[in-house]
Amino acid sequence: MRFAIFSDLHANLEATETVLADAHERGCTHFVCLGDVVGYNANPHECVEIVQKLECPVVKGNHDEQASIEESSRGFNPLAEMAINWTRAQLTKEDKEWLRDLRMTRQVRDFTIVHATLDTPDQWGYVFNDLDAAASFTYQHTTVCFFGHTHVPGAFVRDDGVRRVKTDQLMIEETKKYFINVGSVGQPRDGDWRAAYCIYDVDKKVVEQRRLKYDLATAQQKIIKAGLPRLLADRLKLGR
Ligand code: ZN
Repeated sequence: MRFAIFSDLHANLEATETVLADAHERGCTHFVCLGDVVGYNANPHECVEIVQKLECPVVKGNHDEQASIEESSRGFNPLAEMAINWTRAQLTKEDKEWLRDLRMTRQVRDFTIVHATLDTPDQWGYVFNDLDAAASFTYQHTTVCFFGHTHVPGAFVRDDGVRRVKTDQLMIEETKKYFINVGSVGQPRDGDWRAAYCIYDVDKKVVEQRRLKYDLATAQQKIIKAGLPRLLADRLKLGR
């Protein structure tokens, strides 16, 4: 059984379609979405629809939360706030209800999924270092947990201590614990503009990182045409 696990689509339709096509080609039969379906890019409604059609487990991201409420956002930088206001106007009432009803964490087969952290999932903290990961591990009761939010792919492993490892090809050992960031589909921030997601082969116990080129020019043109801040188009190319 092969899972395609993806996060932070951020309304980037071109990147999302490319990732899902690749997942099908690579024999994935199951899908899991770690949240932030909307925000920043130009196709929030379309991305909500695509994820709904997959009928897969989905957890809530901070942009999903903000887009689904009517009052103005708290703790968002001006760029994210401009985008979220625009996003609210693009979503149907049903889209917002669906986003609002998403859960913070879920267990899928033998692994856990969350958008940001397991210690305080609704506080939207960022796991960038071993210390952040250690706090989350305290609440992790499965060998593997997948997360997103930072838009930076990579995994933390806990055995004697906590250390960072790459996810190019990661063998899962039952004696350890793994907190794995699958990277971002629609707005990577690790300096590589290509869409990121992970494939988890549950039988072989292997996690594989995928990076894919997509139609970046179209995604950028749509952002500009929509009247969203130009910086959002520029950053896609930089992977920042
Ligand atoms: Zn995000």
